Amino acid sequence: MSQFDYDLFTIGAGSGGVRASRIAAGFGAKVAVAEEYRVGGTCVIRGCVPKKLFVYASEFSKNFKAAKGFGWDVGETKFNWSELIANKDAEIDRLEGIYDRNLGNSDVEVIRDRAIIKDKHTIHLVNENRDITAKYILIATGASPFKPQIDGIEHAITSNEAFDLKELPSDIVVVGGGYIAVEFAGIFNGLGVNTHLLYRGKKILRGFDQDLQDGLAGELALAGMDVQVMTDITKIEKQADGLLLHLNTGKTLKTGAVMYATGRVPHVKDLGLEALGIEQGRIGEIKVSPQSQTNVDNIYAVGDVTDRANLTPVAIREGNAVAETLFNNNPMAVDHSLIPTAVFSQPELGTIGLTEAEAREKFENIDVYVSSFRPMKNILAGSDSKMMMKLIVDQMTDKMLGVHIMGPDAGEMIQLVGITMRMGATKADFDATMAVHPTAAEELVTMKVPTR
Ligand code: NDP
Repeated sequence: MSQFDYDLFTIGAGSGGVRASRIAAGFGAKVAVAEEYRVGGTCVIRGCVPKKLFVYASEFSKNFKAAKGFGWDVGETKFNWSELIANKDAEIDRLEGIYDRNLGNSDVEVIRDRAIIKDKHTIHLVNENRDITAKYILIATGASPFKPQIDGIEHAITSNEAFDLKELPSDIVVVGGGYIAVEFAGIFNGLGVNTHLLYRGKKILRGFDQDLQDGLAGELALAGMDVQVMTDITKIEKQADGLLLHLNTGKTLKTGAVMYATGRVPHVKDLGLEALGIEQGRIGEIKVSPQSQTNVDNIYAVGDVTDRANLTPVAIREGNAVAETLFNNNPMAVDHSLIPTAVFSQPELGTIGLTEAEAREKFENIDVYVSSFRPMKNILAGSDSKMMMKLIVDQMTDKMLGVHIMGPDAGEMIQLVGITMRMGATKADFDATMAVHPTAAEELVTMKVPTR
């Protein structure tokens, strides 16, 4: 009989916490997971999943327009926001049910309560007002949206609220130039909302390859969005008929709603970390070893709360690795290099490896292949939207250093490119691969002459 109530107590039933809990239970550990909100976490409840449903919804407007060129007359179209929200909610409920059942089937006890770490082995459940003990504790509490503290910020929403807006505004201002900002700007724009994107820097998508930054900025403008760079809101004023935004440029902007997508911060508030002396970083992220162990030896942390690579699949792998390490005698660390990722902007982006700027810094000589073209479908559709593919190759070894794609299905493509890059693919491997015709992806294996 163990001296503890549980072998593993997980705080947070999101992607990382659920995976760690289920795998640990599968290895015979006695596991409980506490969740104060909804099982499934940000990704399922108010992140990746509903976001992608919204992206699908918003793409219809483009497709209705394109239909004409293919002989279809779709007549008058009308969009019903409440219906989308209701259907989205039903789907999220269904998925939450599956998560919940899977935990139960894996013999993980789900405790719907807020958990606080009281000491190294003790967790306090706030609503039930009781203490329980565990040999190991896993913190998987994720992150929450960050809003800068400016005058009137209480009138702004974040992605959390955007998923449940009662009504779709006629105008919206999205602040930020990262993943969430460009994805939501595309969603609103596609749903017919007059959309402005304000970004404080020179180029949106800081850290991405320059051709993706420039390419997407151009496409957003082409899609009818108002993209303003070097622009920030200094004050939000609520008026009878909407919000008046005061900008750093000296101008004002009137809008129905303003959404901040200005990053996310680790969800660590009132968890009891300070009392335990758990080491944290600049934005509160929990510092961990490659095995996700904190400086308190029986306490681990995975996912966004550790601010490593804030992506669902990464959290899942980290959770899995913790379970392997602790309960299968198989110390495991996640390799955070070469992570393929997609941005569900419109058009979509897929990216892996080094940007051109990074590659120039790290390697003596590189070849860059860029191809920009109108995808086949867009010709009859009458759309000027372009697709861009870019390969970055080390001249000395011929190794593929980075691949960047903008256009339909870029996310699907980059997943497969990711496998080749992990295998150490060279440009010659790409060249030797037969093209699949007619596809857009064939461009990846038919670029013969370096652009620069
Ligand atoms: P990001 O870090 O991607 O972007 C934040 C943006 O907000 C940046 O453009 C940043 O500007 C700007 N910003 C930050 N602080 C301020 C401020 N005080 N005033 C004005 N602008 C500011 O965060 P997101 O919120 O978009 O997304 C969070 C994370 O979630 C992502 O990093 C990603 O890991 C994950 N995610 C992944 C998705 C996917 O895989 N498709 C989808 C959505 C989220 P600057 O560049 O100047 O710092």
